[in-house]
Amino acid sequence: MISKILVPTDGSKAAQKAAKYAVDLAKQTGATITFLSVIDKRLTVSQSIPSEASPTHLIEPIEDYLRQAAESYTGEIESLCRQKGIKSKSIIQSGHPVEVIVKEAEKIKADLIVMGSHGKSAIKATVLGSVTYGVIHKDTIIPVLLVRK
Ligand code: ATP
Ligand code: MN
Repeated sequence: MISKILVPTDGSKAAQKAAKYAVDLAKQTGATITFLSVIDKRLTVSQSIPSEASPTHLIEPIEDYLRQAAESYTGEIESLCRQKGIKSKSIIQSGHPVEVIVKEAEKIKADLIVMGSHGKSAIKATVLGSVTYGVIHKDTIIPVLLVRK
């Protein structure tokens, strides 16, 4: 039933907790895991900046830095998968997290999305992070499993 799990991660504690949950689930079901880290375009580019004024010399290093950070935390969780004999891979993509997560889940035909209830945000009072909220309200039939922080 569960053969392909998508785990979106922002490298936060909550997301790593969700990733570990997915690893245990994959171990039991024999599923494979795809980790997905989205470089949030809203953080790196502003559409309102005219291209000639766009400080690409600033934006590119930010993207590079975020990509390196993503490689590091997805690499970490992938090595846990290797240790446990679970087939996994990582995708790093830039865009809007909610859009990319749902699109990618459908593209790889994931039958489950496992993600954290919260992420990196400093605002701890909210019931649910906005990325999680967005994903569960999107028009998709793929079930979502939320791991509480
Ligand atoms: P907010 O971002 O709304 O201020 P938050 O950071 O606490 O709040 P979310 O960003 O919704 O909460 O994070 C919830 C979960 O969504 C994370 O545990 C992770 O699974 C996933 N997620 C968040 N951001 C990304 C991202 N950029 N790429 C992939 N997955 C993400
Ligand atoms: Mn967030």
